[in-house]
Amino acid sequence: EEEKSLNFIEEIIEADLAAGKYQQIVTRFPPEPNGYLHIGHASSIVLNFGLTQKYPGYTNLRFDDTNPVTEETEYVDSIKDDIRWLGFTWKNELFASDYFGKLYEFAIILIKKGLAYVDDSTSEEIAAMKGTPTHPGSNSPFRDRSAEENLDLFRRMKEGEFPDGSRTLRAKVDMASPNMIMRDPILYRIKHAHHHRTGNEWCIYPMYDFAHGQSDSIENITHSLCTMEFVPHRELYDWLIKQLEIFPSHQYEFARRNLNYTVTSKRKLLQLVNEQHVVGWDDPRMPTISGLRRRGYTPASIRDFCERIGIAKRENLIDVSLLEFCVREDLNKVASRRMVVFDPLKIVLTNYPEGQEEMLKSEDNPEADPVQYREVPFSRELYIEADDFMENPPKKFFRLAPGQMVRLKSAYIIRCDEVVKDADGKITALHCTYIPESKSGSDTSGINVKGTLHWVSIKHAVSAEVRLYDRLFRVEDPSNEEGDFKDYINPDSLHVISRVYAEPALLQSGSGDRYQFLRKGYFCLDKDSSANNLVFNRTVTLKDAWAK
Ligand code: ATP
Ligand code: MG
Ligand code: MG
Repeated sequence: EEEKSLNFIEEIIEADLAAGKYQQIVTRFPPEPNGYLHIGHASSIVLNFGLTQKYPGYTNLRFDDTNPVTEETEYVDSIKDDIRWLGFTWKNELFASDYFGKLYEFAIILIKKGLAYVDDSTSEEIAAMKGTPTHPGSNSPFRDRSAEENLDLFRRMKEGEFPDGSRTLRAKVDMASPNMIMRDPILYRIKHAHHHRTGNEWCIYPMYDFAHGQSDSIENITHSLCTMEFVPHRELYDWLIKQLEIFPSHQYEFARRNLNYTVTSKRKLLQLVNEQHVVGWDDPRMPTISGLRRRGYTPASIRDFCERIGIAKRENLIDVSLLEFCVREDLNKVASRRMVVFDPLKIVLTNYPEGQEEMLKSEDNPEADPVQYREVPFSRELYIEADDFMENPPKKFFRLAPGQMVRLKSAYIIRCDEVVKDADGKITALHCTYIPESKSGSDTSGINVKGTLHWVSIKHAVSAEVRLYDRLFRVEDPSNEEGDFKDYINPDSLHVISRVYAEPALLQSGSGDRYQFLRKGYFCLDKDSSANNLVFNRTVTLKDAWAK
């Protein structure tokens, strides 16, 4: 077995376990319920849950819902669906808002220790007193209030006596710290806003820095993993835990994972939804988990992708073709094969008796063990793809041409005898003969042909709509271009073919079924599909069309 080297977080965990620092590890995935999860979140999910699958311990799901304005229950539900779909199970479902009471008590402890104060300065005044990275800030005139006065004011803030923005609670750390975040950070602000879980119970809300580390500690999180932008926050994370003398969780940082030709920011994705550049959060072009699911991605392929990219300390754009590679690998193993003609050209087999038909066996999935078969109806009149025929072919065109032979997949070898045209010279059909002894599986014809075509029997064909997708953006990194990222949307990211012709087995499709349409790509049934209007999404083409 191949030995995989440890990533830097696994190294820390193995050292901690070896030193007996912990018997088990506890991680958490802490989404803010202000949007749907995207592929970047998947990488954090695979990391956090993956670690506690590998080492003794468990992972909590904690909704980081300390900002009342942007959060909604719809997002909470979608986040849970997406994590479950990805194949992970959390130990406890928790909400930072459940800790509002506990966090309030922590604030009281800091005030009593002389480590927090109520500041009446406006946000502009606070910003002006902050200093710059090279110059120390200055102390607020309210910094030296007595603990009694602070306790009274903070209680009255909580009771709703003061308007939004009129006061804050700040930690008393060091206005000259080289780390700007340590310059008396705000712990609480006043916001008379309805919260999706606590309703109107609170009108003061903790800031991220005050809520996050304390929530980690309350849950005995051993390894709190977050993205690199929180590196400067670690000093405050540790300071608060030390002053409060609570369970010492530790924060470790890894780089955000972003995909090219898309955006991975809930705020930007929300704009695409609200301004109707896409049909919703689950539009198959979106890099959200729900979009990828609707597009036909499998959970295994997304997990595989996240494991392959692993974790790093430096940010970079990941090539979306790696994600596509992962889903092809998986679908090749699990997708049933079907024949579907997108742009039909009629074939009449002049030596196949009229009214006769037969059922032919075709491999459902040649990669499956044991190989399963399905039955495909065959008759005198068939469709093939129009571009599988050329009247005047170049050399090495191994498909159909006048006088040339090809094999019809799982059926017979045919020869094109005559091109039938209408009055305008447009080709309307091909007259062909089939070679009865060339039946797939019992071919005694001795004829060798190079081309194999997919086809459907016209009489048995069912029609369907297919939706073909391209990248949502024209440029690799739309967030890094001049102007608005939406200026770089690809206007041709969706191509609908409203009527294609499929073998009848596709009528049995259920949601979540995944197929390889031979020579056309991998497809799945869309949720817009109904019994009399089948709709399929192309998940990915068979080969990387962008590869050089
Ligand atoms: P967004 O900008 O999309 O809102 P966020 O970091 O604000 O991202 P959260 O809901 O706070 O979103 O994220 C939950 C967890 O997922 C956090 O631990 C965060 O670090 C992680 N995460 C978010 N985006 C990425 C990404 N692109 N790559 C890796 N991890 C990510
Ligand atoms: Mg966040
Ligand atoms: Mg965010």
